[in-house]
Amino acid sequence: MDEGAGALKSATTTRRVIRALSAQHPNADTELHYRNAFELLVATILSAQSTDERVNMVTPALFARYPDARALAAAVPADVERLIVSTGFFRQKAKAIIGMAHRLAAEHGGEVPADMDTLTELPGVGRKTANVVLGHALGVPALAVDRHVLRVANRIGIATTDDPERVEQQLCAALPKPMWTLASDVLILHGRRVCRPKPLCDRCSVRKDCEYYRTAIAPGRRDRRPRI
Ligand code: SF4
Repeated sequence: MDEGAGALKSATTTRRVIRALSAQHPNADTELHYRNAFELLVATILSAQSTDERVNMVTPALFARYPDARALAAAVPADVERLIVSTGFFRQKAKAIIGMAHRLAAEHGGEVPADMDTLTELPGVGRKTANVVLGHALGVPALAVDRHVLRVANRIGIATTDDPERVEQQLCAALPKPMWTLASDVLILHGRRVCRPKPLCDRCSVRKDCEYYRTAIAPGRRDRRPRI
């Protein structure tokens, strides 16, 4: 990972960075299509090792056939596998979403619980997936950390660890709760569009606050200036 060289930036800087990135990506939101928490939970599980675009191609047919947890809990795995095959790892994913639906139907009245601990006890549901669903579909402030959040936050210096849960804690400690979900969305979008593995720093609105730019990008640019 490309980490910034400095110490963790202040809460003031973190808030300024998230505000600037929100302005740069004004429509940041999850790109998964869903109508309720159950659909977002299934879509997020399917998005592992895949793309949101790919998942959005398969979920309309999946949700038409299995519109709720009870329907999916009763599904034949091979039928689900056929519908989700293009998202990759389709056998494990079919097993996970059927198992998850079974638990929702058996223990939660078919509803998605709005609680991190209960969510992460469900098959196929890790902390990142739970945070996506809590923040977007259940109205609970939550900051999902994926590989983009990890890379971008560490480069800027508003996080200083490659442990996703610690990154979540560092960002949440610096930001008011109403900014948590937004922060995750804008960092993800920034990582996809601008702060890619090979970053497009010329298009970035937070260069002045970015530790990686200051220590790794800017010095190289100074070296390339013609000597007169
Ligand atoms: S300045 Fe470059 S490295 Fe820093 S956040 Fe922006 S794109 Fe990423």
